[in-house]
Amino acid sequence: MIAEYADKYRFCPRCGKPVAKAPDRPVFKCLHCDFVLYFNPAVAAAALIFNPQGQILVIRRAQNPAQDKLAFPGGFIDAGETAEEAVRREVREEVGLNLDQVDYLCSFPNRYPYQGVTYLVLDFFFIARTREPGNIAAPGEVRGLFWTSPESIQLDDLAFSSLKKTWSYYQTVWRPQPPPG
Ligand SMILES: [Zn+2]
Repeated sequence: MIAEYADKYRFCPRCGKPVAKAPDRPVFKCLHCDFVLYFNPAVAAAALIFNPQGQILVIRRAQNPAQDKLAFPGGFIDAGETAEEAVRREVREEVGLNLDQVDYLCSFPNRYPYQGVTYLVLDFFFIARTREPGNIAAPGEVRGLFWTSPESIQLDDLAFSSLKKTWSYYQTVWRPQPPPG
């Protein structure tokens, strides 16, 4: 998994000399100048957003990876941001919503193939609440945006393994269902 990521480096980013062989560890080390690059995951944040009626907001992705699949609003965390700040910013930019309350839910690793490179990502998930109706989705990034009942979400409709694991976690651990009857 690491190798497919690391072997994109054909030249040292510091001294520019060719790389003799693909790295076999989760680190790039230049044999010429000793430059070292660690392949830590990128970090992203997304929110399960609920309105006062108990509906959840989902988006339909407009682009690959996972085009047309469902996802929760969010995006990559910028350097210097907290995960909470990032999820508020991304939701504002992506779906035009201000979040009232943001509580940490869980995190899961993810793989994000983009432009020929599979990025290793750690996704942070939050439970959020809003009283706003939601705006028009950002053009280009999002195909559709809708409120729906949590019961209507099917695991196979979700875009990434981290989303499926989070949805399972939310349903079984965070919000255990009362016994029938
Ligand atoms: Zn070098």
